[in-house]
Amino acid sequence: PEPYAEEAVPQAGSPGLVLLRQVGTVDPASLDDYRAHGGYAALRRAFALGPAGVIREVTEAGLVGRGGAAFPTGRKWDATARQPDHPHYLICNADESEPGTFKDRVLMEGDPYALVEAMTIAGYATGAHHGYLYLRGEYPRALARIQYAIDQARARGLLGDDVLGQGYAFDIEIRRGAGAYICGEETAIFNSIEGQRGEPRSKPPFPVEKGLFGKPTAVNNVETLVNVLSILERGAAAYAATGTEGSTGTKLFCVSGAVARPGIYELPFGVTLGGLLETAGGCTGTPRAVLLGGTAGGFVRPDELDIPLTFEGTRAAGTTLGSGVVMVLDETVDLPRILLRIAEFFRDESCGQCVPCRVGTVRQEEALLRIKDRTGAAAADDIALLREVGRAMRDASICGLGQTAWNAVESAIDRLGVYQ
Ligand code: NAD
Ligand code: SF4
Repeated sequence: PEPYAEEAVPQAGSPGLVLLRQVGTVDPASLDDYRAHGGYAALRRAFALGPAGVIREVTEAGLVGRGGAAFPTGRKWDATARQPDHPHYLICNADESEPGTFKDRVLMEGDPYALVEAMTIAGYATGAHHGYLYLRGEYPRALARIQYAIDQARARGLLGDDVLGQGYAFDIEIRRGAGAYICGEETAIFNSIEGQRGEPRSKPPFPVEKGLFGKPTAVNNVETLVNVLSILERGAAAYAATGTEGSTGTKLFCVSGAVARPGIYELPFGVTLGGLLETAGGCTGTPRAVLLGGTAGGFVRPDELDIPLTFEGTRAAGTTLGSGVVMVLDETVDLPRILLRIAEFFRDESCGQCVPCRVGTVRQEEALLRIKDRTGAAAADDIALLREVGRAMRDASICGLGQTAWNAVESAIDRLGVYQ
């Protein structure tokens, strides 16, 4: 295999890692090496526990989704498993496209068998026999490595009609995205796989009840699924001993921008933003702001580095952890230009299905363009317009894209005082 880009994981090989423990140390092209590192012990335990037992462990571990929304995984799996309608489907959402997010890519490239094993466990728990990996189209190396891992697992009886000789049939099919950010929204994934326009559907009904092809579907992010391996290997209690009560386990943070050692970091939930930045070698230059949680999250100030990085802690601080983006901007950054770029991104990626988002993202970009070089009273009317448009997008858009398209701009105005 081509060498793994270790520079993306400065902690590679360090003790104490859970999700990244094999990234940079296991040969991503060798099933034997994966097994020599303890691979497939979790699936064996899953078969010993049975589907309900697996769901119980995942629920007791307190695992919540790592795509950004932190929905309890055990609840999602239980709701899917209970549906009388069949077949059930499993989808791994690997369409990682949030600007500044590259954690799932590292997991898939560095430890592809871990995801194949974790998807098999999720399929078993939720009663699915067919799993789709919906992969970001711009991740060719992840595609090659995961496809190879799937083929090898199938050839060795770890996928297929009789997984591990346990009488359970499960297989995985990869579907590639084609560059549209919106196709990472879970219901747009359904449309994309079904061959329709990649537009989100209204929720409810939730996918657990009516998902792919109208059937019960569990959709989980890559990082969420990989957590399940350590829950089953170590047990729910040992897993939940790390982190906080509301955010158990460890989290992958995508640190970029003005820091000494950018990359993916794995730390227990509860570390402060400042603690994380210290681990990444500290800020280079004078920090002006940190974008936390990606474009769906928002900016925080350099005097807010004591925010605990947990789902509940960021919520209490009026922001969000989202998909784990931590982008540090220093004083040399032109903030109005960054906001314009974010607005342009949302305008470009809006699928256009609903009016608040289709029109609102255009109006937002126009207003930001007008006030790019203005402050104070000269910007006041457009800031009032931005607030009105932002409220309409948040309240009336069909999906998360429109609902969060104003978050970053709002936080820059209210927290950073840009345009003042
Ligand atoms: P959501 O809150 O609508 O749903 C989260 C998950 O919980 C979904 O799978 C949903 O089906 C499920 N769910 C919610 N309520 C349920 C219920 N009552 N019963 C059963 N299932 C239920 O959020 P979302 O729109 O899916 O995701 C938004 C998040 O996505 C944002 O936080 C954002 O940070 C993140 N995001 C991530 C990326 C990325 O690249 N990782 C990109 C864009 C957005
Ligand atoms: Fe499409 Fe935007 Fe409406 Fe979502 S909010 S359905 S992206 S137009």
